[in-house]
Formats: sequence, C-alpha cells, structure tokens
Amino acid sequence: MRIVWIAAEAVPFVKVGGLADVVGTLPRVLAARGHDVTVILPGYAAIDAPTTRTVRFQHAGASHQAPVGELHDAGIRFLFPRVAGFEGPQIYSGWQDGERFLRFSAAAAALVDADVVHVHDWHAALIPVLAAMGRVRCAATVLTLHNVAHQGQMDADWFLAQTGLPASLLTIDALEFYGKVNVLKGGIVFADAVTTVSPTYAGEIRTPAFGEGLDGVFRHHAGKISGILNGIDIDYWNPATDPLIPARFSAADIDGKLHCCEALRGELGLDGRVLGCVSRLVEQKGIDVVLDSLPDIIAAGCSVAILGAGDPILESRCENAARQHRGRVSFSRGYDEALAHRIYAGAEAFLLPSRFEPCGLTQMISQRYGTPPIAHAVGGLRDTIRDAETGFLFEGANPGALAGAIRRFAAHRDIAAMRHAAMTEDFSWTASADRYEELYRNLTASG
Ligand code: ADP
Repeated sequence: MRIVWIAAEAVPFVKVGGLADVVGTLPRVLAARGHDVTVILPGYAAIDAPTTRTVRFQHAGASHQAPVGELHDAGIRFLFPRVAGFEGPQIYSGWQDGERFLRFSAAAAALVDADVVHVHDWHAALIPVLAAMGRVRCAATVLTLHNVAHQGQMDADWFLAQTGLPASLLTIDALEFYGKVNVLKGGIVFADAVTTVSPTYAGEIRTPAFGEGLDGVFRHHAGKISGILNGIDIDYWNPATDPLIPARFSAADIDGKLHCCEALRGELGLDGRVLGCVSRLVEQKGIDVVLDSLPDIIAAGCSVAILGAGDPILESRCENAARQHRGRVSFSRGYDEALAHRIYAGAEAFLLPSRFEPCGLTQMISQRYGTPPIAHAVGGLRDTIRDAETGFLFEGANPGALAGAIRRFAAHRDIAAMRHAAMTEDFSWTASADRYEELYRNLTASG
C-alpha cells in the first residue's frame, strides 16, 4: 500500500513529546513490511534536507508555491514543505499555530498521492476534511488522536478565508463548535477511521471527564473509533545495549541495574530508594500530586528524581522542593535525553500520576529498564501496567492515592520478580503495526 503520514513531530527531526516517538518509529515498521511509506512534516528551520521539488497549493485565496526538502531513511521518504511560519526555532507557537498548521496542511495535502493518508492530532486534522471535499488524492483517511486536549479552535470566518472551504461546513454536525471552528472535530467527523493510542482512552473520551468538550462527538462517531496501543522502539530503548547508561543489563543479568541505581544516587545526591519522574511539566502529568505527597514519599524511605520542563509555576515548585528536601528531591530542569536514560535505568520505581494519559510511553520505557511504574489507572497506563505484577496502579490522581501506592511499593517483598516481569513484557511495535495494517486494508478494500 502507498501510505502517507502527516504530523507536526517525528524523531529524529523534532520532538516535544510521545507523538514524535510514534511518528518516527511506526512508519519504519510499516516500510520494513514492504509498504511504500512517506512521512510529511513541516519544513522546520532545524531540518537540513536538500530541496528536490516545489509544491503548489491554494491558501488564503491565493496560489502559493513552496520548496520541499526531502530525505530518505529506513525505506521512508520524508518530505518537508517549507511553508511560511516555520522559519523560527519553535515547533509550536501558541496563537499563531492556527495559521501555521492550516498552511502546512494545505501544502501537505497537495503532496499526497496515496491509498491511505494517516494524520495525527489537530495539526493535520484539516486533511480528512479536504479529502472529503475531493481535494486530496487518496482512497481513505485515518486520524489518530494522541491528545484530545489540543483541538485547534479558531474564528469561523477567518478559517473559511484561509482554507477556501464552503460555509456549509459550519454546522454542529461538521466543524462548528460553540460558534467557532474546531479543526480536530472536523477531522473526527470526516476521517474514514479514527484511532486513539490506547483502547482505554478510546472509551474514556466518550465521557465528559475525558472528552475535553468533544465527548458527544466521540459518542456519535463511536462506530469508527478504535484504540490501538502504542509500542516503543525496543532497539533504541534497550538496557542491554544502551550507550547512555553507566552499565548494561538485561532480565537475565541484572547486576548492571544495581550499578545504575548506585550511580544515579551519587550523581543526583539522593538517599534512599529513588523514584524517577521524566515528564513534560504540565497539569496533565500530575507533578503537583508528587510534590504534595513528598512527606509520605520520604517517610516511606524513598526520594524523587525529577527531570522535566514546561509550566514555569510547576518548574519553580519543583525547584523549591529540591531546595527544601536536599538529599530527597532532585530537580533537573530541561529536556535531557541522556539523563532521561540514566533515570529510567537507575531509578527503583517510576512515578506517573497523570490526570489523563492517552497512551504514555515512559511507563513502557521504565518497565523495559526494570523500573516498575507507580501510575494512576487511566488510559494507556491501565493498558500497559499489570497491577502488582509489573508495577502499581492506583485510583484517583491525588496525593493520598499516590502515597498509598508508594507504600505498597516500599513494602513489596519481591521487587526482583516484578522487575523481571516488567522487563520481559512485549512493548514492541509488532502488534500495533498488525492492527494498523488491518485497518488500512479494511478501509481500502471497502473504499
Ligand atoms: P507526552 O507525549 O504526553 O509528553 P509520552 O509518555 O507519550 O508523553 O512521551 C514522552 C516522551 O518524551 C518520552 O520519550 C520521554 O522519555 C520524553 N521526555 C519527556 N520529558 C523529557 C525530558 N525532560 N527530557 C528527556 N526526555 C523527555
């Protein structure tokens, strides 16, 4: 099949979160299975790719053309249309993103000639709408929801002027959302199939608590929405070969893990059993819940190693906690790939009190490094952690519930067995790739 993926992020080019891991990894698996795979990303300034062609597209009532960078890697063709708005260093830029990603989507749509177009999150959710209007050369469209909290809402008249789409789309059954346009909603309505990145999240978004205002839309379109669990790149995230950790180890030979734990305690100046936390610092991830349970964490003989960046208020709360609880809390501000590896390998457990979690990758990575996750039982966390076998699940993202789960960890008699079970779970992309292939095949056979 000729498959085109369109998204805002992919490793190794640009990464903010798990979206980049998925878009950078799964297409490689599909290409290795013999499909003709193209991945289209915005032509960010940081991406160095030779220009091989020009794309012509309609946008904001005029014809445009933009140079397109192109790279080939692992059997995949990467295309980077260099449209206006992506010259700076930022991947996302707040209020300007509506204009940036509508323009990118128009250019990407013009590059498509495929059986299946698979788009990700609101940044590319305009494309199924354009396809439904006959403006994209493809047989079927798939939209994957990595996080429904981001929807791309904008003024309706401005949207029509940018996209040239008809005003007849501004109905409650299509793109209209409380008097504005909601691009993600348009993608959900018009895509042939919609997937979430875990089965549990597919059910959760039909409820007001998790639907971010779109729960009614998800209920209405439930018949075409399914959950396909993410995997991780098990070659990259492999403690037996990882060059970024102080000692290598595996489920069969765990000594290196103990060395990594010792080294992490030394590096960060922590006492006790270290609980790791590698996260974007945003409300979703519940870092405030960790900070509020610090007295209980310390009383349980543990300490916390936090690596993350994001909301300045959460960053300064982490800094204060580290100052107040020297030897028990360390805070490393920023995005640091190497330190993340050392924490996955050197922590004794991993904290994930996310308020919601569409899939989550860090609980899979930590299990692969023999670090049982202690996680709120939501979304993909529920689907990838077996309570009391590969980690600990708790109900309710609140300090009392988290502290209770940490006490269960501290009192657990056979962490070695749990570590072994976690390390031998299958988090490879194989099963997900099977499901996506089956979905693509069903869509193109019926189309
Ligand atoms: P989300 O996409 O919501 O941020 P995921 O768990 O799906 O959450 O993906 C997070 C990815 O980003 C993981 O690969 C994790 O290792 C990485 N990551 C998050 N924060 C940092 C950080 N501060 N430094 C290094 N890696 C990070």
